[in-house]
Amino acid sequence: AGTDAVTTSNPVDGSPLATYPAMGPNDVEAAVVSGHRAAAAWGLVPVADRAAGLTRLAAHLRADAERYAALVTAEMGKPLAEARGEVEKSAVTADYYAGHAEHILRRRAVEIDSPANVSAFVQPEPLGLVLAVMPWNFPVWQVMRFAIPTLAAGNGVLLKHSPNVTGSALALADAFVAAGFPEHLVTTLVVAEPEVPETVGRLIADPRIAAVTLTGSNRAGEMVGAAAGRASKKSVLELGGSDAFVVLADADVPAAAAAAVRARFTNSGQSCVCAKRFVVEEPVAAEFTRLFLEGVAALVLGDPTDPATTVGPLARADLRDALQRQVDESVAAGATLAAGGRSVDGPGCFYEPTVLLDVHPGMAVFDEETFGPVAAVAVARDEEHAVALADATQYGLGLSVWSRDTERAIDVARRITSGAAFVNAVVASDPRVPFGGTRRSGYGRELAEAGVLEFTNQRTYWVA
Ligand code: NAP
Repeated sequence: AGTDAVTTSNPVDGSPLATYPAMGPNDVEAAVVSGHRAAAAWGLVPVADRAAGLTRLAAHLRADAERYAALVTAEMGKPLAEARGEVEKSAVTADYYAGHAEHILRRRAVEIDSPANVSAFVQPEPLGLVLAVMPWNFPVWQVMRFAIPTLAAGNGVLLKHSPNVTGSALALADAFVAAGFPEHLVTTLVVAEPEVPETVGRLIADPRIAAVTLTGSNRAGEMVGAAAGRASKKSVLELGGSDAFVVLADADVPAAAAAAVRARFTNSGQSCVCAKRFVVEEPVAAEFTRLFLEGVAALVLGDPTDPATTVGPLARADLRDALQRQVDESVAAGATLAAGGRSVDGPGCFYEPTVLLDVHPGMAVFDEETFGPVAAVAVARDEEHAVALADATQYGLGLSVWSRDTERAIDVARRITSGAAFVNAVVASDPRVPFGGTRRSGYGRELAEAGVLEFTNQRTYWVA
C-alpha cells in the first residue's frame, strides 16, 4: 500500500486482512467540520438522553460482541476470550456511566455568606470536539474508556487509532451510530502513517478541536503534549508503565505467584499496567520463583483463535524485535534466563513467554518498559530494599503489593510512586475508580468521576 492506503495484517502469519483508503487533507477537514457541528449540538442534549444512548450502546456491544472480538483478534492477535472480555468491559462501562452521568454532571451549589443576596454554583459543561490518539493493544477498550465518559459529558470524539487496528477503529465509529448516537459525533480518521505527526499537530492547533488525549508511547506523548501546550489546550496523556509487583516475606506466596502469571502475561504481555518487574523479598524468593516458573510453563503460546491458547503473537514484528533486544542486552548484563528468551521461527510475531532472574537496575528489562511476555525478577534484601527497587523507575502507573498484613502493604505502597496501588490484587482499570499515571507514565485521569470531569469546563455561575 502507498501512503494513500492503510493495510492491516494478521500477526499470526503476516497475511493481509484488508486495505482501507487513507483520508487526505480535504477528508480530514470535512470530518472536523461535521464533528465540530455534531459536538456543539450534542452538548445541548439533556444528560438523561445522553445516558440513554449509553444504555443502547451497551446492548449493541453485547449483541455484536462476537463480531468485534473476532476483528480485534484478527488485527492484533490477542486470545479470543480476552477480546470478548474487552468488549464486555466496554459494555459494563457504558452501563456504569448511563447510571452515574447525571450525578457526576450535577450542578454543585456553593455556600456564599456574603454578600447575602448572592447564590453561586459550579456546573460542569462540555468542551467540544476532543481528539483522541489511541493505541492498538486494547483496540476497543482503550477507545471506550475515554469515549464513553467524554460523550457522557457532552463532547464529541475525533479518533486517530493505530493503523494496524483500522478495521476495529471504523467499526467503533459505526457502533455509536448503530446505538442511535448522532452521525459524526464519533468519527474515525484513517491517516497514512507518514502523515500522522503532521496531521495530529495540525488538528491540535485547530481552534475547532477543544482538547486532546493520547494513549501510547512517550515519544508520541511528548509530541502531543507539546502541541497542546503551544495551543493552550487541555491534554491527557496515558503513557507507558513498568509496574512493580512486590511480594513481601509475609505474603501468601502461592496466591501471589498465580496472580503474577496473570499480571504479566495477560494480553500477551502488551498492557501498560501489566506487572513488569517482580520484586520479591529474599525469604520467599525461591518459593515464589519456583511457583511462578511452573505457572509460566503452563502457558500455551499459539493461535489466538484456539480456545486453548493463553498467549498469542505480539501485534507487530517490530515489537517482537524490540523485546528480543531488551532480553539479549539484559542477559549480556548478567540476568539469568530461566524460561523462553526467543522469537518463534516463522512468519508470525510470536515470542516465547520469558522469565529473567537476577535482574537489577541498569538492565534493559528493569529500566525500560517491556511490552510483551517477558518477566523480570529482582530479589530484595528486605522491605526497605524492596521499596527502593520498586520505585527505581522513571514510570509510575500501577503497583501491586502482596502481604498478609494489609496495613503493612499500604504503608509500603505509600513509599512508592504510582497512579494506583493494588494490595493482594492484580492492577486493572475499572470504571468505578480513576485510572492514570504519574512521572513519565503521563498525567490526567480516565474513568470514575475524574474521567468525566477531565473534559469539562468547571464553570462558575455567580448570581446576584
Ligand atoms: P505509539 O507509537 O505511541 O502509538 C500510539 C498512537 O500514537 C498511535 O495511534 C500512533 O499512530 C500515534 N502516534 C505515534 N507517533 C505519533 C506522533 N509523533 N504524533 C501523533 N501521534 C503519534 O505506541 P506503540 O508503540 O504503537 O504502542 C505501545 C506503547 O503504548 C507502549 O509504550 C505502551 O506502554 C503505551 N500504552 C500506554 C497505555 C496507557 O494507558 N498508559 C495503554 C496502552 C499502550 P501511528 O502508529 O499511526 O504513528
